[in-house]
Amino acid sequence: MPLPKDSSIRVRFAPSPTGHLHLGGARTALFNFLLARHYKGTLVLRIEDTDRERSTQESIAAILDGLSWLDLGWDEGPFYQTKRLDRYRELGHHLLEKGLAYRCDCTQERLESRREEALKKGLPPRYDGRCRERSVDPSSPHVIRFRTPENLAIVFDDLIRGTLSFDSGVLDDLIILRTDGMPTYNFAVVVDDIDMKITHVIRGDDHINNTPRQIPIFQALEAPLPDFAHLPMIYGPDRTRLSKRHGATSVMAYRDMGFLPQALVNYLVRLGWSHKDQEIFSREELVSYFDLDHVGSSPSVFNPEKLLWLNAHYLKNSPGEELVPLLREQLPPLTVPLPQSQDPAHWIRVADELKGRSKTLVELAQFAHPFLEHSRTIDPEARKKILTPENGGVLEQISLALRSLSQWTGESLRNAFSQVGEALHLKLGELAQPVRVAVTGRTVSPGIFEVLLLAGREVSLARIDEAVRLSQEPVSDIQESRNGKEDLHD
Ligand code: GLU
Repeated sequence: MPLPKDSSIRVRFAPSPTGHLHLGGARTALFNFLLARHYKGTLVLRIEDTDRERSTQESIAAILDGLSWLDLGWDEGPFYQTKRLDRYRELGHHLLEKGLAYRCDCTQERLESRREEALKKGLPPRYDGRCRERSVDPSSPHVIRFRTPENLAIVFDDLIRGTLSFDSGVLDDLIILRTDGMPTYNFAVVVDDIDMKITHVIRGDDHINNTPRQIPIFQALEAPLPDFAHLPMIYGPDRTRLSKRHGATSVMAYRDMGFLPQALVNYLVRLGWSHKDQEIFSREELVSYFDLDHVGSSPSVFNPEKLLWLNAHYLKNSPGEELVPLLREQLPPLTVPLPQSQDPAHWIRVADELKGRSKTLVELAQFAHPFLEHSRTIDPEARKKILTPENGGVLEQISLALRSLSQWTGESLRNAFSQVGEALHLKLGELAQPVRVAVTGRTVSPGIFEVLLLAGREVSLARIDEAVRLSQEPVSDIQESRNGKEDLHD
């Protein structure tokens, strides 16, 4: 269904602050955001905090942090439902006066026993309507129930799922205001969507059963109906609803695991939406291409491998200077920084050199650490396998050749390595691996000449000499130091 290409679109993101911003919520926020931007409309942020027991300030802060990390700004709000209680009461009483709602003083016990009776008879456990025609004393404790119209077919065109119809006979006379005057979820949502002039309600399909409950309330309040779009579920790889069992579901956990927000946004948008077979989208492209016509109705499956792949792509293509502050956040505080770590240009070189082989910022930080910190930890396995007495001899030869260099450049290093290789009848790889372990402490790193250039002459030579010493220690000492120093693992 084509949407108007003007600024009349008003959408909302309406989280309940009962936890962090999870991936499903972030996708709902993103789709609303993109639709608002695409049609130059308005995104309203509404915090649905009427569940006082479960709503917390920390969750509100966590949701706002998540949105700001993903760079999903809104145009109006945040509006808090707890600040609008008078308005819900006003409209609840308006419905009461019009006979479209009624007071109910049924006790919990009565409701419970009716419920059980209905269940025993195999009937849906609905309110039996006892108070529909009674006049309940307004000064006694009571709730206000909506008088759901009888025998009404509720039909709406879901922008994603097509035409859906429900029979009002299956709906309860739902409570709209509780005994303490608090609105219930379905009532507050409708009052807000009306007051905030929402034109399109785009939310997860866990709300699809609420829509037929909400439509008669819109009608009773004589308000135009918004369009509805229910986004398909997100499944875990085992095709059950995505949950903590499948790994992290909180947006901020992905930041802590070293993901870039652009990668997560790019990943989330493809959970349900597609644009031809394009996988990578800039923000501008998303705003320009996004529409609901290309949101599918079948559930999408969360694929952590693909998210990692996207993250690696965004890391590789981010300029070093943008990565440096993020790299600093991921690194443990440097104890004794290398002299070159004082130079901002060194950090940029390190980030640029290593970003292409890192899937996350955490990995980038691990690769970068030996080029920023004075001492580096040697992986015990690498020490045992690579820093053997035989390789100690190789390292000694390399150290001698490197010391004689008048210049520390890619070309001079390459020449030194070929001379040693020729003399010892060893290939470059055979020379490079012990040097790599000596300088970085790890068996995986960028090319050996880049490593030596990044570490610099002094640091490289000192580390190679230290490795020569270590390679001559008997293996039992190594075993001991492995057992005694678990922290050698980084
Ligand atoms: N507050 C609801 C939630 O967080 C969303 C309500 C809506 O979008 O209508 O699930």
